[in-house]
Amino acid sequence: MSDFLGTLRSFEGQTIVPTTWGPDAVNIPMIRHWVETMGDTSPIHLDDEAARATGRDGVVAPAQMLQVWTMRTYADKMAGNDPSPVWTELIAALDGAGFTSVVATDSDQEFHVELRPGDRVSMTEVVESISDEKKTGLGTGHFVTTLKTYRNGDGEVVGTQRWRTLRFRPKPAQSRALRPRPALNADNAFWFEAAKQHRLVIQRCTSCGTLRHPTGPMCGQCRSLDWDTVDACGRGTVYSFVVNHHPRIDAFDYPLIVATVELAEGTRLIANMTGIEPDRVEIGMPVELDWIDADPDLTLPAFRPAAREDS
Ligand code: ZN
Repeated sequence: MSDFLGTLRSFEGQTIVPTTWGPDAVNIPMIRHWVETMGDTSPIHLDDEAARATGRDGVVAPAQMLQVWTMRTYADKMAGNDPSPVWTELIAALDGAGFTSVVATDSDQEFHVELRPGDRVSMTEVVESISDEKKTGLGTGHFVTTLKTYRNGDGEVVGTQRWRTLRFRPKPAQSRALRPRPALNADNAFWFEAAKQHRLVIQRCTSCGTLRHPTGPMCGQCRSLDWDTVDACGRGTVYSFVVNHHPRIDAFDYPLIVATVELAEGTRLIANMTGIEPDRVEIGMPVELDWIDADPDLTLPAFRPAAREDS
């Protein structure tokens, strides 16, 4: 085991937050605020009679509120007190080794005892486990799992929460992400190969002559499996379009125009538009073929506004 992993492992089992009692007992006003905010309409949280009808002694707090009862007060946070020097030390060790990024990966809660108004709640948190170094899609890092245990005034465990984060070394940023790859197969590879040569081809049934797009193995008209291609003339009209703003993916420039273009030959395809501001695009407008040479392995047809006939 490396010295560093040994250091990390020494944190396992250590208490991050010693037993801390919530500042207020479980109470109706806080329950009311919570259920109203969350839209929880179950009557067992505010209506004693309805709660008794379910066999309870009276109203109970929503289980998911568990964390609420022991949250630090605003004044305590503002005072800048470090609630957990052990945790601070662990994070400093991870940061020092380059694991400077964090992402929450999962949370696992268990509820054992329902809380009633007047109950006091305490919480204690320990480092449950720290993983070996793992390679993930985000980068190399360690999964850190902590366990919060909540108890009532009688010392009973009312619930637990496992909280897992990945502390990772961020991958060096690429200059620019590549466009997503098409899923190539025997039925569409020819189309993308033609695009690399700046040829927009349309699949044609050699039995009945019907043109089709997207590409496929069989003619939808006559079920023939025989086909060839014709080269599109490159003129068409905007049949429909959307302008994407979010979510933003590194490979694209935004706002991103995604149009369904009806080719002069009659088939339609989805493509980006170039050479036009999104608010100038109109359904029915004439367009002509352009090309996006995205990277050495990917060329895609795009469409720009058609040059005026008389110019
Ligand atoms: Zn056919």
